Amino acid sequence: MRKAAERYGVQTGEGTGLVEISSLPTDVPRKVHEPHFMLVPSLACPALCSYCFGPHEGPTMPAETMEASLDFVARIAGETRQRKVKVTFHGGEPLMAGHAIWKQALDGLRSRFGPRRCEVAVQSNLWLLDDDFCHLFREHQVDIGTSLDGPREVTDAQRGEGYFDRTMAGIRRAQAWGMRVGCIATFTPANAPRWWDVFDFFFAERLGFSVHPSVPPLGGSGSSYSLTAGQYASLLRSMLDRYVECRHELSISSIDQMCQGVGRGEGKVCTFRDCLGMFLAVDPSGDIFACQRFAGRPPWRVNPILS
Ligand code: SF4
Repeated sequence: MRKAAERYGVQTGEGTGLVEISSLPTDVPRKVHEPHFMLVPSLACPALCSYCFGPHEGPTMPAETMEASLDFVARIAGETRQRKVKVTFHGGEPLMAGHAIWKQALDGLRSRFGPRRCEVAVQSNLWLLDDDFCHLFREHQVDIGTSLDGPREVTDAQRGEGYFDRTMAGIRRAQAWGMRVGCIATFTPANAPRWWDVFDFFFAERLGFSVHPSVPPLGGSGSSYSLTAGQYASLLRSMLDRYVECRHELSISSIDQMCQGVGRGEGKVCTFRDCLGMFLAVDPSGDIFACQRFAGRPPWRVNPILS
């Protein structure tokens, strides 16, 4: 971690917009961005996507850890003088933590930041989305993201039989409550050549999506599901022309962000820049990580939250 910190240490100074967090331990970068917070209330997930890097099992976050996590978010947001605080709930499958912990989390964010200062999002497969969750999410204006890899046969081939129908049921329920849903579409060597079908599906549904290449798991070598850099580039090049034709009716957020990155001369997405310091993630046991991908892996933790 110390080596990574040295390698990725971020500069501060006049005009950089970066500030110093004085109270982080000394073995992490002293100079960081205003971090986007990721809360992981459950690492367990009932789905079995073939390329998933998560453990699929594990405890949910207890109430006292959630309370400590919310205090941590408020403290770091204060120290980094954030006018807008961004909090995304991730997993595993975050809805597996249950209604009570979610109500505690959303009420707790509102009591700490008020109704407008905090932007809250959830990334979920939506299998467990019921009317109680919808009521809560609408009340707290939670931005809903889910994961679908295209039409039924494409999605189920890599995310498991029945995934598509369960997630679509969640999307329909959220839409019935007047909420919009965005999707992550993961591309592998199996569905990348079928990008046109994937695009047409999202276009027909008017569901905005982002393009994610499947990558090998941490510590893993190659995986048959991983997209090579060349395949990824070819996919993006092919899709860009079709997107330009349809951009007034459909949003592909990852392509938008790449274009913005080109305009700014700096990558906007963490994948395309030195990202240490952009995120702080807290997992169900209260361990803090520099990225949600490390959640549940104690060797990579920055610190336990209750220490
Ligand atoms: S829905 Fe997400 S967390 Fe669950 S198995 Fe699929 S990729 Fe993993």
